[in-house]
Amino acid sequence: MITAAQGVKVTTPCVTCGGVLVRDIGQFIDGGQLRWSVEGQCRACPNAWCETGAGPTPEEIRRALLDEHGAVRLRLATKEIKETSLVLVLRALRDMSHLSLGEARLMAAELSGAGLVGTSVEMARLADGLRKRSVATTLAPSPT
Ligand SMILES: [Zn+2]
Repeated sequence: MITAAQGVKVTTPCVTCGGVLVRDIGQFIDGGQLRWSVEGQCRACPNAWCETGAGPTPEEIRRALLDEHGAVRLRLATKEIKETSLVLVLRALRDMSHLSLGEARLMAAELSGAGLVGTSVEMARLADGLRKRSVATTLAPSPT
């Protein structure tokens, strides 16, 4: 089930014929997993392809989404993390992202401080995972 999605259409010259190539770029959450896809199709020739993947999204795709839609900032709803909720936050982050404990601690520190910044789909996925562990968060637009 797709629970969040964001997309952008980017046009570039086609390498085959020089016509207009439209790339339909997207990032989405399917069954709790972060996925991305690119569908390219030339308006003038048969040049077309489709690429899709799971896990960390290629930087080029993130850039295109951030340029079009802007970034969002995810923060914990409560400023002070108590020791018990820190455990929940760390567990949620490690479940979702296969982080080491050190990486999860850094992420938790950012969440309780300035906030984590990313695409709205990436941050929605983190917010969902944290909500499942009863950790409340806030999402707000962030200047890039
Ligand atoms: Zn073409």
